[in-house]
Formats: sequence, structure tokens, C-alpha cells
Amino acid sequence: MIAAEEVLDMEKSYVQVVLEKSKLFGSRPAFIDAETGKTFSFDDVVSRSKKLSKILKEIGLRKDDIIAICMENNINYPIVFLACLFNGIVLHFINPKSTFYEMEHVLRMSKPRLIFTSNSTFQLISLIREKFKFIQSHINLTKHSECVSLEELLDFDDYNIDDFELAQFDPVEQVAIILNSSGTTGLPKGVLITHDNLRCMFGYFGNPRFIPSGLDDVTLSVCPFYHLYGVIISGITMVTGMVSVVMSKYKNETYLELIETYHVTMLFLVPPMAMILAKSPLVDNYKLDSLKWIFCGAAPLGIEVQTMLSSRLNVTIQQLYGMTELTGLVTIMPTDVKEFKKTGCVGILTPGTLAMVRDLETDLPLGPYQPGELCFKGRFIMKGYINNPGASQAAIDKDSYLRTGDLGYYDQDGYFYVVDRLKELIKYKGFQVPPAELEDVINSNESVADSAVIGKPDDFAGELAVAFVVKKPYSDISEQDIIEYVAKHLSREKHIYGGVIFLDEIPKTPSGKILRKELRKVII
Ligand code: AMP
Repeated sequence: MIAAEEVLDMEKSYVQVVLEKSKLFGSRPAFIDAETGKTFSFDDVVSRSKKLSKILKEIGLRKDDIIAICMENNINYPIVFLACLFNGIVLHFINPKSTFYEMEHVLRMSKPRLIFTSNSTFQLISLIREKFKFIQSHINLTKHSECVSLEELLDFDDYNIDDFELAQFDPVEQVAIILNSSGTTGLPKGVLITHDNLRCMFGYFGNPRFIPSGLDDVTLSVCPFYHLYGVIISGITMVTGMVSVVMSKYKNETYLELIETYHVTMLFLVPPMAMILAKSPLVDNYKLDSLKWIFCGAAPLGIEVQTMLSSRLNVTIQQLYGMTELTGLVTIMPTDVKEFKKTGCVGILTPGTLAMVRDLETDLPLGPYQPGELCFKGRFIMKGYINNPGASQAAIDKDSYLRTGDLGYYDQDGYFYVVDRLKELIKYKGFQVPPAELEDVINSNESVADSAVIGKPDDFAGELAVAFVVKKPYSDISEQDIIEYVAKHLSREKHIYGGVIFLDEIPKTPSGKILRKELRKVII
């Protein structure tokens, strides 16, 4: 077992901290819409969130009710988030690029009563509502002929928020948000994150050794708000006073232009973005010397790219490592370390974290330099998966350590290294691609007898999904048919970019578990 050097200051709840800090930050800009320049100050965010929390109460939503949000990044997103937290309402984040098939699966898990949509998700959600009667209403971001608009509701001034009150609850028990993750195995599940989990995560933001953001900092929020990485970035703004310029979609030129225009100081990247910044000739066309801090996480980052990017921009790249089920980061490269160790080094433990590396065969704790499964313990561990006690139990052991399904070790100075992924999960550009979900889709094709999906290493995307398929007798289904079939059912990051290999049989254990290691030998 190895413990973090620093402890967390954890007296107040997350919403209490936000309310207190926003008084200090007042009329300073908090969120700026990258496209329109529309800006919400800290005062705006808090007053609009209070207003929305009152509206949600008026339409009958109470503590523990679940609602969902399905829209691309925009400056109203943090307002919906805070309004729910104020009332003890649970907010389920849904990928706005989800297909009908994916949407059905995730909404069936949480059965939200209300959904926040945008013009890009409105139609699909309307279709879903015809099927799922538990969704009683929906609110669209902008004006829409068929439903109420969030912007109109919040621009309407006749709301008295003087009598605003926070809902009363136990932060350790009270679920705040639900995020989707497949964990170490199986289909996407709803990860229950409590108010206390959030408090732990934000407890070290602004700490100069970890995430030294403050009033002089500006970041670009392009990582999706429906993923924990996005939740963290918008959360850092509310807790430390940093300005967040919100991008609804990523484009290289716009990203670089915005860094220059807004004098961005702090970036949060995933490895493919780091690769573009390290290698693209476009970068030379922009003045990026305002950058002081660059963080990179969600998937492995090669040391060559890290070194190249660092010398190009003259900024040290701090790696982060974490997992949705851990409410974010558990390790980070501290800012006082300026040299890179070696590939896979993801830094030291964040305050309040205990770690254990377990032997893969004996399950016993291992010492420095001995690779095993990385397991973590602390107040940031999820409450469990929604309506899935079996999966929750499998994820957290009897000593309250969460099993990450990642292979790694630590060195004598307490630095952690991620070496490989033991779990099924594929990561494409930092996005989760759960093989079980792809296999379910492929197996639903009437020409397919069986299938298995694994990841193939790729320099830019990290991994590409490769499908091994057993055809039914006399079927003439082709590689292209399979690729198109998957593309019809699943969102872009889950497409079969690594190709299809036809086999006579999928190698399995006697109990029917796919032998993914055997399949890996075929492609590497
Ligand atoms: P997610 O729950 O989507 O954040 O995915 C978590 C998984 O992403 C981890 O269990 C790792 O497999 C992988 N991951 C996250 N950060 C890193 C990193 N810095 N290096 C290597 N893998 C990472």
C-alpha cells in the first residue's frame, strides 16, 4: 500500500464551496462561448443556477429525482449541473452524438423524468420519448416550437431567488451525477458519483503542486462535458476563478486561434490533441506563448510526443491518470517536476489517495517496480453502478479498493507507471469503446454467428477497434457490410476503424469467455 503525501481539506460540501467562491469572483468572466463571445460571470452562473433550481422545483422535481442532459458543450451546461446539485436532483450525462440504440440503453438505466436537449439532439430525444413514457418533458437549450427553452426561462427576469435554499442531504450518500462507463468489463453502466466524491475531486484544484489554476488563468473547454474530464474542467473554473472558453466542437485552427485570442494559460488535452500540437505545421502560425500549463490524460501518452510538445511550446506536459469510477484523477505529475521520467509515468498520488498494486495471480500487494493491477482507495470512489449491484461488487473489493483493470507499478519515489490495459476496454482518442457493446451489435446481425472485438495500437488514435467475425453457414456478409452495420448502430468513436477479420471460431475458455490475448496475437 502507498499513500499520498498530502491530505485533503474537506470541511465544506462542493456546492457550499462554489457559493462561497462565486461571491469572491463576482462579476469576473467564468464561461465564454467560443463562437458567439457570450459571457457568463460567476454571479451570472450562480444566479441563473439558483433560478433554474427554483424552476425545477416548481415543475415538481425533488431530491433524488433523476434528469438527463444531452447536448454538446455550451455555457449553459454548468448551470444545469449546479441547479441539480443545489436541489439534490441527480443529473445523468448523455453523449449528444449517441445513436438511438445507445440512447435507449443508457436511458433505460436511469429513467430520467426530464431531459435537457439542444437543436442537435432534439429530434432523437423526441423519438425516444415516444418509446419511453417515463420521460415526461424536455427543455431545449434554445427557442423551439415544440417545447420550452432553457435560455428563455433563464432570461426571464421575474424570478425571485432571495428565498433560495440548498436542499438538505448527507453528501456521502447523496448521488450528484451519473456518468456512463463500461468499467473493466461489459456494457456501459451508470456510474453513481456522490456529492462527497465531487468534493474530493475539487479539493486539490488550485493547489500549486497539482492543478495550480487561479484568477489569472484561462482554459479552453473542449473535452466533452458529458465525460468526467469535461466535468472537471468546468468544475475547476467554479472553484478557482479560472476563465473557461467553451468550444462546442474541436477544430485544429479554431483551437489554436482561441489560444492566441484569449491568451489561454492552461490546456487539458487527450493524447491525439497533444500529437497535433507537437507535430502540426499549423502551430507555427499562431502565438501560443501565453501557455503555462498543459495537462494530458484519458489515455497513454508517448514520451516522444510529450518531449516534442514540451520543447515546441516551452511548457512541461503534466500527465494525469484516472477513471470515471474514481471521480477523475488519482495520479498527476506534480508541477515542481520538470523532467519526464519514462513512457507511462503518470505522476504521484493526488491528495487523499491510497494505492495498492495487486499481483495478478495471488492478489497480494506488490512493492516498488513490480507490475500488477493498479487499485485505489479514497473518498472519491463511486458509490456503485446504478441498478447493478453485481458489477458494483466486482469493481470494489472488500477493503474498499477500486480495481482499475490497468497494469502498472510505482517506483521508489512513489511515481506511478501505466504499462498496459488488462481490461476489455478500448480507448479511441480518449473515448471509451466497450468491446461488449460492439460485439452485441455485430451478433445482432442475422448473418453473424459470433464475434469478438479488440483494440489494435494506433499512433494517433491510441487504439482502433478490430472485429473478429464468424459468419453463419452460407452467409456472404462482407467486411464492408459489418463496418456499415456497426456504424448504423453506434456513435463515431465506436466504429470498426481497425478492420474485420473472418474466423471459423472465436477462441474461448471452457466457460465461454473470449480469449482476447489469443486474438491479439493475430494482429500484432
Ligand atoms: P475513463 O473512465 O473513460 O476516464 O477511462 C479510464 C481509463 O483510461 C483508465 O482506466 C486507463 O485505462 C485509461 N487512462 C486514463 N488516463 C491514462 C493515462 N494517463 N495513461 C494511460 N491510460 C490512461
